[in-house]
Amino acid sequence: MQAATATAPGDRQDVAARQATFTKHALRNVRIISYSYLIDGAMLGLFAFLGTVHWVPVAAYTLMGLMIGTFWTVVFQNGWSLGFKDPHLPMTLSLTHQVLQLVGMLLMPQLSFVFLLVLFIVFTSLAMRVALRQAVTACVTVCLGAGIVLWGVPGPMRIPDANIAEQVVSWAFISLTLWQCIWIGSFNGAMTALLKKRSRELAALTRKVQHLAQHDELTGLINRRTLMTVLADEQRRSDRTGKSLVVALLDLDHFKAINDTLGHPAGDRTLKRFASTVQQLARNTDRFGRYGGEEFLAVLTGTTVADAHIPIERFRAALAAQGWDEIAPGLEVHFSCGLAQYRSGESTEDLLKRADDALYQAKRDGRRCTRVG
Ligand code: GH3
Ligand code: MG
Ligand code: MG
Repeated sequence: MQAATATAPGDRQDVAARQATFTKHALRNVRIISYSYLIDGAMLGLFAFLGTVHWVPVAAYTLMGLMIGTFWTVVFQNGWSLGFKDPHLPMTLSLTHQVLQLVGMLLMPQLSFVFLLVLFIVFTSLAMRVALRQAVTACVTVCLGAGIVLWGVPGPMRIPDANIAEQVVSWAFISLTLWQCIWIGSFNGAMTALLKKRSRELAALTRKVQHLAQHDELTGLINRRTLMTVLADEQRRSDRTGKSLVVALLDLDHFKAINDTLGHPAGDRTLKRFASTVQQLARNTDRFGRYGGEEFLAVLTGTTVADAHIPIERFRAALAAQGWDEIAPGLEVHFSCGLAQYRSGESTEDLLKRADDALYQAKRDGRRCTRVG
């Protein structure tokens, strides 16, 4: 026997689909970061070309960036992070990149502004993703690291601007950083739009679930559970205001014969047609719902049992005037009805029992009639 907690095949497919989407997104992000290391490497290469730095640390920095990218690609590709709460591992991933910027500063202090800019970008995108506590932890760690680097770097840290070429490349780096900020911003905007879309979908789904829980699927009327709540509310209102309240239990006559002779789908269509006909005639202060099977309950407010016969006969007349031929030629649909007027302080069960007894009496009296309990 399977364990009760075993995952259903549908759920397993869902999990697999979610994991595939996660892997796709995670790998795309790693790819984008790797591309930006290549761009940064090329820009740093320009400084090496101008003689601001030696090409060895430039190559070392770019290579380390790409190695970090490869490392994360392997991690995500193999699903090693899937066991974690946030499998994107934003803190660890971001810290590896931030540490690399500090290493860059150590290797090339004359280009420290470049690494500071990248550090800001990496840190900002982390802070946007994680909770405040995690962002503060990351901030403290990076601040400590930056302090150590500032203390450890031998020469002055500066923006290269000794000649026009250095000025142009430095300016290009600053511009590139600003463009990257826009890119991060647009990514954040897309995330916000996605969240809004998801919360709209969730609200719609909640409304749908609520509707399903309160209504009968076949007829669209309120279901027994909702009827009970409505009735209890009306009983309390009647106790408070002294207004009369009547329940009418309607049961289709010989409905089984319709199913037996015309088939279940025809029976369903009959129930639907019956429900919509009566619903349309009910006052909007009254509530009408499916009590179960081919039994319906009308909660008639501000009505005495003597007056209640009027709407019930209206229902009969409307049903007689209905063309049921569409379901089956010559089909007639009738119902028996049990009425009970609420007695102050009476329980819902007792009130319904009286209506049910009256309905039973109507059946015994030959059906197609109304009796009072
Ligand atoms: P009576 O006049 O004494 O009420 O007889 P009846 O045939 O209407 O009552 P009975 O309780 O013998 O049969 C009710 C039938 O209603 C049996 C059941 O299969 C059918 N029924 C209940 N719910 C549905 C439904 O959702 N769709 C259809 N097609 N039939 C239903
Ligand atoms: Mg019946
Ligand atoms: Mg019945």
